[in-house]
Amino acid sequence: MAFATNAVHAGEEPVYTGGASGDVVVPIHLSSTFARKEVDAPTGGFEYSRSGNPTRFALEKKLAAIEGAAHGLAFSSGLAAETTVGLSLLKKDDHVVAFDDLYGGTRRLFNHVFHDSFGIGFSYVDARNPENVKAAIQKNTRFIWLESPTNPLIRLCDIREIAGIAHDAGVRVIVDNTFASPYFQQPIALGADIVVHSTTKYINGHSDSVGGAVVLSDEELFQKIRYNQNAAGAILSPFDSFLIARGIKTLALRMERHEKNALEIARYLAGHEKVREVYYPGLPSHPQHALAKKQMSGFSGMLSFELKGGEAEARRFLANLHLFALAESLGGVESLIEHPATMTHASIPKKDREKVGVKDSLVRVSVGIENAEDLVQDLGQALDAI
Ligand SMILES: *Cc1c(COP(=O)(O)O)cnc(C)c1O
Repeated sequence: MAFATNAVHAGEEPVYTGGASGDVVVPIHLSSTFARKEVDAPTGGFEYSRSGNPTRFALEKKLAAIEGAAHGLAFSSGLAAETTVGLSLLKKDDHVVAFDDLYGGTRRLFNHVFHDSFGIGFSYVDARNPENVKAAIQKNTRFIWLESPTNPLIRLCDIREIAGIAHDAGVRVIVDNTFASPYFQQPIALGADIVVHSTTKYINGHSDSVGGAVVLSDEELFQKIRYNQNAAGAILSPFDSFLIARGIKTLALRMERHEKNALEIARYLAGHEKVREVYYPGLPSHPQHALAKKQMSGFSGMLSFELKGGEAEARRFLANLHLFALAESLGGVESLIEHPATMTHASIPKKDREKVGVKDSLVRVSVGIENAEDLVQDLGQALDAI
């Protein structure tokens, strides 16, 4: 089945038998526990809502279907999903190779929890060049952690090539697919072993739920992560499961519009005298435009740009916007804008941040699905105010 069909139907096929009411939308099952007739026969396989809930289960089927994978698991946040993957694959003194331009919270989890509490070693490399990844693999490396495109510099890495290098070395590959969304990029088909998502972003798409997902096809690994999800307990609530399943139904439509608007805004900014540089993979000037065309079916709705001024100019620009909400997070229907150096990436020490290229003049935009002309006009008047 094609993406848009799975997005609407997977996990929500109406049930007509056994006293069911043929719901077209999966009901929100709030019950924390499920009764059975006999001790060894849990009804429908459900026992207790942490270990399994029918609403969450429906969402998990949908998540797997839209990523082209066998299994999905829904977590209480993107970071809860990441934590549970870590718990499932790592033990003391293991090592991980990660892209150096990562979501700030992921880096904090790696450095201050996995490293400081559990002694896991991390090597951060510029994964735009797969040779850097290859060179960083050690005997105790357990997985490669990638984001593509990255946050906030919108850099890409060649998932297929890195998966080849990793698998030759017996190492797994995990891709945080939050920025592209499964509509534009399918890492499992490119050779990744596990996909993680912050469903808070594009997948839910309406800025009204925090959640995360793990999607994979490897049966043994799935059982292990599922076991740890139940053991550690970071599950998604029934209500959030409903919201995310609802959001996914329009994912294809939303992503098309996000991309169309982002391309228009990227072109506008690239031609503006107060803008030094625009980072958007849909622009032919993006150094990895060709890779984007090869491994993604679209360029998504995230872009960032550097103003010619510094932090003061960035602050003045941001304070003068009307339509773009100055807020962290991304992927919702409404346009959001933020200043990585003082907001999303403030937890990364300044010297590490600047080494990667996140400067004080950098602004990140999550382009919404509003009218593109209105958005361009708002950006234009705020740039005039600098
Ligand atoms: C937001 C985000 C996360 C973390 O997800 P939460 O739902 O906030 O826990 C991880 N990776 C990326 C790329 C993100 O944007």
